[in-house]
Amino acid sequence: MKTWPQLEADHKRYYRETSNVPSGEYHETQIGWRTIVVDALNAVEVVVPEFDIHQIKEKFGGLRMYLSCDEHVAVREIVRRAEAAAYETCETCGAPAIMDENQHWIKTLCPWHIGERAKATAERKLEYRLAKIATPE
Ligand SMILES: [Zn+2]
Repeated sequence: MKTWPQLEADHKRYYRETSNVPSGEYHETQIGWRTIVVDALNAVEVVVPEFDIHQIKEKFGGLRMYLSCDEHVAVREIVRRAEAAAYETCETCGAPAIMDENQHWIKTLCPWHIGERAKATAERKLEYRLAKIATPE
């Protein structure tokens, strides 16, 4: 079983974690899904000892894992289970979660992080409105 630092070192070029909202790079998820990703990659290594990560990312609130060995039936099942687990897990903190849409951006988050995201959106909107009042055209 490889630990997160070992997996991260092995696959740094194709996957990394962010501690906050992903910047939109194609190979990122937040730390709440770490256990899911680590368990899946370790399970895949049991089936196929040598493989490459093409891409692991968050898309439309879901985990996506594309591996060089995903034509293998057992690997497809491991990936399918990991992706299903991610739909029930907060990407930010790992707590039980639901899908949330905010400003057309879908994320899988726990109630607390849904609230944090809504608050950040409201604060940005208010700042924008106040800036417009301060500098009329
Ligand atoms: Zn959370």
